Amino acid sequence: MHSLDTKSQFLELRAKGWSLSRIAQQIGVAKRTLVDWNAQHKLELETLRAFEEADAPTYAAIRREFVYWGDIETYFGGECVRSTGHGFCGMSRKRLLQILHARCRELGVELEFEREITDERELGSVDLVLAADGVSSTLRKKYEQHFKPTIGWGKCRFAWLGTDKPLKAFTFIFRESEHGLFAIHAYPFQAGLSTFIVECDEAVVVGYLDSVKLQFDVSNLMLVRGLNSVAIKGNFPREMFRFQRRNGFRVRPMMRSSPMATLRHPMIPDMQLNLRVLDVSIGGCALFLPNDVPALDAGVLMNGVIIDLDADTRIKTGLRLQHVTSLNPESGGVRLGCEMVTPGSDSLRALQRYIDQTQKRRRLLALD
Ligand SMILES: Cc1cc2nc3c(=O)[nH]c(=O)nc-3n(C[C@H](O)[C@H](O)[C@H](O)COP(=O)(O)OP(=O)(O)OC[C@H]3O[C@@H](n4cnc5c(N)ncnc54)[C@H](O)[C@@H]3O)c2cc1C
Repeated sequence: MHSLDTKSQFLELRAKGWSLSRIAQQIGVAKRTLVDWNAQHKLELETLRAFEEADAPTYAAIRREFVYWGDIETYFGGECVRSTGHGFCGMSRKRLLQILHARCRELGVELEFEREITDERELGSVDLVLAADGVSSTLRKKYEQHFKPTIGWGKCRFAWLGTDKPLKAFTFIFRESEHGLFAIHAYPFQAGLSTFIVECDEAVVVGYLDSVKLQFDVSNLMLVRGLNSVAIKGNFPREMFRFQRRNGFRVRPMMRSSPMATLRHPMIPDMQLNLRVLDVSIGGCALFLPNDVPALDAGVLMNGVIIDLDADTRIKTGLRLQHVTSLNPESGGVRLGCEMVTPGSDSLRALQRYIDQTQKRRRLLALD
């Protein structure tokens, strides 16, 4: 196993154009290993070579800042899968900008900050304008007929964080939660500092006002730093859900909608069951099991359950039976209290909408 310093030396000499045989002699590493390293770092070497050719002092300053790592660790379901033998390097974005600023000053380039350019004619008479105004470039927009840019917006929301947790690998952590799948994408960029990006499908905000829970999706989040405080700015929510807090937001369906759950009997797979839904909450539901159906024991898991709450609301989920409760003798059956197991985020959203609307309807009809 070679140290990262040895690899760093290799990259430096290779970027200077040394042959693999000469480097092998200089740093005492087998040429066969260097052939592998050369392939792993092809892109980086090309980038560095271009940098060195353009401006050797900037290249040297950047190289001094690099941290190197070679592994990818993926965490899922309590297990870590490690893939080794890669080659990565990184540095702090801020340090990169400081290096570029310092070099500009050294060469007499005039730097101007905090000046918004809205029209390139403000720059006076110049031969060439090199605009690097980022993904929301006003100049690219202004000349879109010419540049023909295309931008595809994805659904993913992310929080880009930094941590002083030292990482030795590209780290990917996947964690299921009641709000959907969260993915962490983390990597070192400086000794003792790492980037830690948390991604998820969508951000859900939950707030409590007295006895009411409010819930809404937020998009286009932006962290705004003030002198004394930090705020999160986002688009005004299009939809807001309101839940009573009592009873864990459980609702009884309206009588005329008669929701049903369709599932296979867990002990008799050939037997399909259509069970009446007695009530439903965000994390569970209660089903009515008639006396003529073979009994079910608490703890059993029922997979692939489809719950049709009304014509527009279908939930696909697993159910774990938590309690079996006797009802009054005339009912001719028992109540199965079930917890939902890994319902998809679409199902959860549909369930929230259904509960919210059912609560409103029941209040209007003075049923609750
Ligand atoms: C979460 C995240 C993680 C990333 N991770 C990596 C990574 O690990 N490695 C990597 O290589 N890349 C990464 N990237 C991509 C990288 O950040 C971008 O590719 C890079 O910053 C683009 O550089 P740029 O100079 O084109 O634009 P920017 O860095 O966006 O710079 C544009 C500059 O122009 C200024 N500007 C805009 N309009 C005007 C105007 N009208 N007048 C004056 N100034 C203006 C802006 O204020 C800004 O300072 C990541 C990006 C994100 C969002």
